[in-house]
Amino acid sequence: MTSFPKLLQRMQELKDLYGIIGLATWDQETYLPRKGEPARACQLSSLQGLYHEKLVDPALGELLERAAARPDLTSDEQAMLRVLRWERDRAVRVPPELVRELAAAQSQALPVWREARKLNDFALFCPALERLVRIRREQADALGHGGRRYDALLEGYEPGMRVERLSPVLLGLKEKLVPMVQALCDAPEPHPMASQVFEGKTFNGDRQWRFTQRLLEEMGFDLEAGRQDRSVHPFTGGTHPRDVRLTVRIDEANPMTALFGVIHEGGHGLYEQGYAEEHHRTPLAAAPSMGIHESQSRLWENLVGRSLPFWAHYFPILRAEFPKELGGVEPEAFYCAVNRVTRSLIRIEADEVTYNLHIVLRYELELALLDGELAVADLPGVWNERMQALLGVTPPSDEKGVLQDIHWAWGELGYFPSYTIGNLYSATLYAAAQRDLPGLEERLSRGELSVLTEWLRRRIHRDGHRRYAEEQVRHVAGKGLTDEDFVEYLRRKYEALYGVQLPR
Ligand SMILES: [Zn+2]
Repeated sequence: MTSFPKLLQRMQELKDLYGIIGLATWDQETYLPRKGEPARACQLSSLQGLYHEKLVDPALGELLERAAARPDLTSDEQAMLRVLRWERDRAVRVPPELVRELAAAQSQALPVWREARKLNDFALFCPALERLVRIRREQADALGHGGRRYDALLEGYEPGMRVERLSPVLLGLKEKLVPMVQALCDAPEPHPMASQVFEGKTFNGDRQWRFTQRLLEEMGFDLEAGRQDRSVHPFTGGTHPRDVRLTVRIDEANPMTALFGVIHEGGHGLYEQGYAEEHHRTPLAAAPSMGIHESQSRLWENLVGRSLPFWAHYFPILRAEFPKELGGVEPEAFYCAVNRVTRSLIRIEADEVTYNLHIVLRYELELALLDGELAVADLPGVWNERMQALLGVTPPSDEKGVLQDIHWAWGELGYFPSYTIGNLYSATLYAAAQRDLPGLEERLSRGELSVLTEWLRRRIHRDGHRRYAEEQVRHVAGKGLTDEDFVEYLRRKYEALYGVQLPR
């Protein structure tokens, strides 16, 4: 037996275990009885411990080194080696005590953050966050970096990405977005009825559910290789590309929560189902970064799901499902209602134009925290000042400001940029799809969503983790991380919607 089949077997075991962790996590978020929660936390922690043990096993390290020395590896085998070595190296470098300390600090901080948010009291959360930032700094130093701690953490979500590459793109984007937001928020409402489309109405949950299932199927999501359920926080998970599970949250006061939610998770789900069959149970059946995964959900949710062609087809269907609630609503009012730009306070409720400013804010603060230029105790004040500068609004409370996201409470630093990277990639990939598929929007307006799905499968999904994320995007679109397609997309769409000339 050569070293690769042995190595492949190890890779498959890791992937199987990862799938079972996915199953237990999915169940925790959907059907687990409340009293089973403490036991599930123990089960998950044991499973993750087992996964870690298998990953750092010195015998696996030897197999990897032996395989890497072979001259006859295929390019897929080389990619598998690269991905697994990357994951293993990161796991080996962090001392077990630090891993345990982080886990303890995370579970301690989470309930404190919930309480602090409820009481609108940042001081309550401050010591827990200070501890998490300190541990993350130590973790970054253990992982190693060339002087920028942020790089070591960013690498965990965006392999290959560096602050040096990312910062100029995000800062350039900021400079274009700030005047754009100003111009759009100063302009009159694009439709007088836009703010009243959903107001005071109730949208039956079962009918919403039916509509989301229809959307999923028409996007090409295979419900025999996955399923849809309900959960408070929508997500996509599962155990294997033939068992992809996504969830949706139904809000009877506003059907768009579930609709955009399912289009978003459907984009993630299609990616997960689309990995090449020969890569299943190997490290290649995965996305190369969180950002590129997010590019798929946002391409569907925003570039398709908030577009005119999409609603030209789906609005009449939605209206037929809710004749009493939407019967008197004009398609133009509906389109404006789902695309209103406001000086948003809350990231997850932000529109496409303001959203990335929320990310830039968090990115700059995280950089300063990790570099030691900003003390945790000073966060609320700096947050509010920057919100005023970026979005022209000051949060009325920390609950609607610095305490709004769960990420920091979980010690997650370095993750936020993935959302904006996803938005930028989504526009670049969509522009490439339009070049490759003449008449795309016309076909979308007839409800032919599968044209786009097939293109994404062929150009992105199949390849899984064969390349770095930016390399994959460059391979498909001829360019990597850039804001040009995204900014151009926003300009064209919002100039038409608001009837104004946006600054260039
Ligand atoms: Zn997502």
